[in-house]
Amino acid sequence: MNILGHFINGQAADGGTRTADVYNPALGQISKQVALADKATVETAIEVASSAFQAWRDTPTLKRAQVMFRYKQLLEQHADALCRLITEENGKTLSDARGELLRGIEVVEYACGAPEFLKGEHSRNVGPAIDSWSEFQAIGVVVGITPFNFPSMVPMWMFPMAIACGNTFVLKPSEKVPSAALLMAELLTEAGLPDGVFNVVNGDKEAVDTLLADPRVEAISFVGSTPIAKYIYATGTANGKRVQALGGAKNHAIIMPDADVDNAVNALMGAAYGSCGERCMAISVAVCVGDEVADIVVDKLQAQLSQLKVGKGTDADAEMGPLITAQHLQKVRGYVDLGVEEGASLVVDGRELEVSGAQQGYFLGGCLFDRVTADMRIYREEIFGPVLCVVRVENQQAAMDLINAHEFGNGTCIFTRDGEAARYFSDKIQVGMVGINVPLPVPVAYHSFGGWKSSLFGDLHAYGPDAVRFYTRRKMITQRWPSGGVREGAQFAFPSMK
Ligand code: NAD
Repeated sequence: MNILGHFINGQAADGGTRTADVYNPALGQISKQVALADKATVETAIEVASSAFQAWRDTPTLKRAQVMFRYKQLLEQHADALCRLITEENGKTLSDARGELLRGIEVVEYACGAPEFLKGEHSRNVGPAIDSWSEFQAIGVVVGITPFNFPSMVPMWMFPMAIACGNTFVLKPSEKVPSAALLMAELLTEAGLPDGVFNVVNGDKEAVDTLLADPRVEAISFVGSTPIAKYIYATGTANGKRVQALGGAKNHAIIMPDADVDNAVNALMGAAYGSCGERCMAISVAVCVGDEVADIVVDKLQAQLSQLKVGKGTDADAEMGPLITAQHLQKVRGYVDLGVEEGASLVVDGRELEVSGAQQGYFLGGCLFDRVTADMRIYREEIFGPVLCVVRVENQQAAMDLINAHEFGNGTCIFTRDGEAARYFSDKIQVGMVGINVPLPVPVAYHSFGGWKSSLFGDLHAYGPDAVRFYTRRKMITQRWPSGGVREGAQFAFPSMK
């Protein structure tokens, strides 16, 4: 069977005696294997990235941007192949794979602006014949550790900006979806990126722990579940590294009594069931204000769920694919069982769904719970599957109190026609990314992405302007050239403008 390896110093590389199975979740079959890098392999990648750093940080910024521009063109040329790999290993539909790829390419486009965003600030005559300026300097070897649910986009939240800023990079993708990263590495080399600037090590905890401990690694960007995000943040910062660690979510949408309900229900369908609910910005809780709107929303969701086309991601008409693994399917089904035990009303039960021609696939039909309450585990915990919980409250404040009390604070949304209610919501809600009649308010590439509370550990968000800060170190330079032979005597008072 095909064993995928790593990409180190501009070429495919072996390394590590352990392997993991890679599945095609739509077929429920092992399709390939991936090598799990051992400590020595990871250290080789770090060494290579470390050796490539000086030359790359001294490469003119415009040349670095030109590599990004060629890379963007290559991504577009190879989009079909990349999307096919994503669908084969992750299960999401081809159109959904294309969506994530396009959002990743947008970050590459933003990274092409490196000569502009790395310009710094200049002040003339901060004192007599003294000029002062700031520079954003590259920091060195940067690491990215990424989850299974966006095999191309989440890595591209990280490495295009890190590399454009003059750093070198080691990516540790999810071992469940290793192929997209390897293809992206080949395309970067084809785009003219010097060997060693971008490296991929496939692996698991052994690889991650080696990256966290190595003193040559300056910064770590992590995206994944909250328990691992906490671990990465605690260990990485204890080892003196700069760390941003994005974690899990439980995203609520409020449906106000005055909302355009048809629009809200359509939006909820895509946001709750798109990508089989395996998005960190998926809406997993619909908070309906008043029983009247709740009854209508539940009825309309039920009707739409009966039409939801679940199938292999490669099927042209599939709207939702399978879950990632058999274990994850068991976990999500377990939450549906639990919701029933906890007393929520299971309006739509997706557990018995069978997809013809793919009986072994990890499919679960869309599930809908009504009358969910805040004490239930199906409400408190991230399920990460096609399960939407409806919570009924009496007014907007009660809906917002619920959201503000929740452990997570990634994304949220309100459906309303009332500008005052929308403004109050966006101002007072304790969540990092807020939508007004927009269910998935994922920021575009020239803003930054990040949640609050247990959805992000660290100070700076991903991509956009925050990435320039995260992947660089500011240096202030103050310069004076004594002219006309004027010499000053020694000054013992603290320098100031008298
Ligand atoms: P995960 O935390 O299991 O894995 C993420 C990465 O960490 C992988 O590369 C994995 O190999 C590594 N890892 C796993 N266990 C580890 C351990 N014990 N020690 C060291 N490294 C370990 O996450 P996942 O299941 O791949 O992805 C789904 C999760 O990611 C969900 O919780 C989802 O909400 C979250 N996510 C968050 C965002 C965001 O922007 N906040 C975006 C996408 C996904």
